[in-house]
Formats: sequence, structure tokens, C-alpha cells
Amino acid sequence: MSAWLEEPTQRGAAMVADAVRAPYWLDRPERPAARPGLGTDTDTDTDLLIVGGGFTGLWTAVQAAEENPDRRILLVEGARIADGASGRNGGFCSASLTHGLANGVARYRDELPTLLRFGVETLDDIEAALERLGVDAAAERVGELDIANFDWQVDDVREHVTEALLYDQPATFYGRDEARARVNSPMVAAAAHDPNVMMVDPAKLAWGLAAAAERLGVRIVENTEIVSLRRRRGSIRARTAAGTITAGRVVVATAATRPLLRRNRWAMVPVWDYVLMTEPLTAEQRAAIGWSGREGLADSGSRFHYFRLTVDDRILFGGWDAVYHYGSDHDPRHAYDDAEFALLAEHLLQMFPQLDGIGISHVWGGAIDTCSRFSAFWDTSMGGRVVSVLGFTGLGVGAAHFGARTALDLVDGRDTERTRSAMVRSRPIPFPPEPLRWIGITITRKEFARSDRRKGRRGLWLRAMDAVGLGFDS
Ligand SMILES: Cc1cc2nc3c(=O)[nH]c(=O)nc-3n(C[C@H](O)[C@H](O)[C@H](O)COP(=O)(O)OP(=O)(O)OC[C@H]3O[C@@H](n4cnc5c(N)ncnc54)[C@H](O)[C@@H]3O)c2cc1C
Repeated sequence: MSAWLEEPTQRGAAMVADAVRAPYWLDRPERPAARPGLGTDTDTDTDLLIVGGGFTGLWTAVQAAEENPDRRILLVEGARIADGASGRNGGFCSASLTHGLANGVARYRDELPTLLRFGVETLDDIEAALERLGVDAAAERVGELDIANFDWQVDDVREHVTEALLYDQPATFYGRDEARARVNSPMVAAAAHDPNVMMVDPAKLAWGLAAAAERLGVRIVENTEIVSLRRRRGSIRARTAAGTITAGRVVVATAATRPLLRRNRWAMVPVWDYVLMTEPLTAEQRAAIGWSGREGLADSGSRFHYFRLTVDDRILFGGWDAVYHYGSDHDPRHAYDDAEFALLAEHLLQMFPQLDGIGISHVWGGAIDTCSRFSAFWDTSMGGRVVSVLGFTGLGVGAAHFGARTALDLVDGRDTERTRSAMVRSRPIPFPPEPLRWIGITITRKEFARSDRRKGRRGLWLRAMDAVGLGFDS
């Protein structure tokens, strides 16, 4: 096989035609009932207000409540818990805080050993917290296999392993035969194993963290949007449609939605990513594809897929195109794009021709909070009383725990190894205003596609982006 198909086919379109248009993870009977909103409860007062009920907000709530059981903590979610990226993702919970080693080397070379240590500690902390809090997130610490699909990608994957070992990170290179013994696909030319990745059921993780936070005394309200934050006489006034919450401190964890603080709007763009979920594989289908290690899989082009097995042996298959809509439009209708789904379905069969005839049960998309350094940043405002954390750029399942831990350090004015790090103290380069923003992102998307067609060679545009620190290589 020499390339991924670039255009959707009729076969792909037929495969997804009857799929449920909703995130599989959220479309299950285990989904808890909605918690009541704040309604007309206008005089709410709290020590710590957390805005956003995804992983970042939930880990903030759990960690804050664990360290100080007397603190009054209110988490306000505009929609439902995990309705944002946290209930829509692939469930790859990686130790990487920098969106991969290569991006870490390019941006944080001097402190990378520290960031790598923080990352492994984070993954260990998550595992320990799930145990301690009794959260069943179907976690499997099976690692990730990064796959070279084509011969021209093999050297890159091998070099990635060499670089990881240089930084004392565990990694193993598998040539074609060994890699295909792990995953039986004509699209596997080599692979690298990273053991520091845990596969989780993201919705169960979020629902479990919300329940654990409540057991620790946190109050959670859903369907209540915070529309503005103002500083007023030593506290923060957060306005909802119905009234005002007075808070001593605020952590804002709203990811790809329009940031409450104007200056963060320059630093983040919502980029849409698409996913499909198959029906559970039959025993014959399961045997035909190998993959007995159940690792998370990702391939290595500029546009890449990520795919994994669920506990009931469905395949989640997502990625490839990343779509930006003019004006940072975050309208939920962008979560459904038939052409993207049809192309993903065709790619699934390119990867596993053995699965011809498989049913697709769900299709959906989600917005990724993308920043120009492809890894989280923290913003402190309103006299240190408000801290926002965002910009995870598609690798936030694990990093959200670190993002939350650090946001709490900052909002409580603690001087820690985390808050002293250059990563936490610096900010990404802002995006330009429209129409330059749309033009720049569109050219970059087209150049990524061209680079894949030219066996990874990066043209002038991508090399210029690399030179000014806006390039990406995970
Ligand atoms: C399709 C897809 C696949 C992904 N796959 C992976 C993966 O496999 N591994 C990985 O590490 N990362 C992945 N990611 C990224 C990961 O899901 C996110 O980085 C992570 O979930 C971010 O968590 P969060 O809490 O910061 O944001 P979110 O989960 O988006 O939560 C933010 C919440 O804030 C709420 N909110 C927004 N504004 C307001 C307001 N004004 N008032 C009240 N509430 C508000 C929203 O409703 C939302 O629930 C993926 C993302 C997508 C979209």
C-alpha cells in the first residue's frame, strides 16, 4: 500500500450512513442523570469556583477537596459533565505533557528531563487516584504503539526510539515482522512501543471523578453557563444567566469553548477532530487482526489516525483531518461531517481489510483547544484570583491532571517546582486576527497533506513555521 485514500468513497459513506450521530462514550445507559443547575439561586458564595466539567475542572475539584476538606468548592458546567472533549476523545492517557517527545525537545529542551519526570509522576498519580477514589475508568496500562505505515516513515520511528532512550524514556522499536506480529495489518511497516500510556474509558473516568468529587464535598451543577467574570472588592463575581456567584478564587477549565478572558482568545483556536466506533468485533474478526497487547495505536504521518479497542472489543478509529472553521466558530453542528466519517471508515478498512463488512455504531467529532505550542498554558489574572488552563491540543487526557494541579498551585499562590518551570511561566505565540488566522491554518493543513504525499518532505511554508517556532511534530 503506498498511501491513504484522500477522498471519501461510496463504500465508506454506506458504512457510516446508519451510525448514531453521538459520542459512543456518552450514549450509554450508565450515563448519570443530569445534576440540577443553579437556577435562580442568585446568592451563591464559594471559596473556589471551577468553571468547566471536563477532566481539567474535575481533577481541580478532586485535588482541591482532597488537600483541604473544609474548602467550599463549586464546579459549574455549562452543559453536562464530559460533554466537551473529555467525553469525546480516544482515551489515550499519556504521560507526555508536551504533546510528544519531539514537540517537547523543540520547545522545552532545557527543562525536558523535568517535564518528562512530571509526566510519569502524573500518570502514576492518576493510577493511584483511581484506586484510592474507587473510580472504574476501565484503565489498561498497555502503552501505545506508534506505527510507520510506509517504508519512508520507518527511519523517523526508529529515530524517535533512539531519542526517547537518550532521555531515559522506555521505548522499543519493532521492525516490520515483529510489528505485524503485534498488529496484523498491511499498513504496518514498523512500530515503536511507549509503555507510559494508559487506555481509559473517558466518560467513565469523568463520571467517576464527578461522583468522587461530590463524595469529597464538592458541589457540582450542570446546565449553568458562566457568562462573565469580574473582580470586585477582594473577590470574583461570576455571572450566570440567572444570577451571580461570589468566589474567592476561580479556576477556568473551558478548553475549546470561547475563553471567558479576552486575552486568551488570541491564544487558542478550536480545531475539529472526527471519530467513529465500530460494533463489537466477532471472535473471528478479533483473531484476524492480532493486536493481542491491546495497545493504543497511532500512525506517523503529518495527518495521523489514532485507534484503540474498548473493553467489549469495538474499535474506536479517529483523527486524520483537523478542521478549523472561520472566526474560531465553535458551533456544535461542526461535530458532524459526513465526508470526514466516510473517509475514516475507508481508512479503517485500509488498515484492516479483514474487517470488510464491519458495522459502524457511532460517529462524532469534538473541538480541540489548539494553541501554537501544542501543549497547555496557564494564565493568571484579576490579581492572581483567576487562573485559566487550556491549550492541550489533543493530548489532554493525562495532562489535564497536571494542568489542574498546577492551576491550583497558581491560584493559591504557591511557589512550587511546577510553577517555577519555564513551561508554566511562558505563553504561546498568539494567533493573528481573521482573515489571516483562517488563511494561515488552511495553508498549514494543505501543506501537511502535501508533505504526506511527498514522503514527509516539508515544503517552504512548513519549514518557515518550524523556524519561527510554530511547527508541529509529535
Ligand atoms: C475527538 C477528540 C479526540 C481526542 N483524543 C484524545 C486522546 O486520545 N488522548 C488525549 O490525551 N487527548 C485527547 N483529546 C483531547 C482531550 O480530550 C482534551 O485535551 C481534554 O479532554 C480536555 O479536558 P478539559 O477539561 O480541559 O476540556 P473539556 O472536556 O472540553 O471541558 C471543558 C468544559 O467546560 C465547559 N464550559 C465551557 N465554557 C463554559 C462556561 N462559560 N461556563 C460553564 N462551563 C463551560 C464545557 O461545556 C466543557 O464541558 C481528544 C479530543 C477530541 C476532541
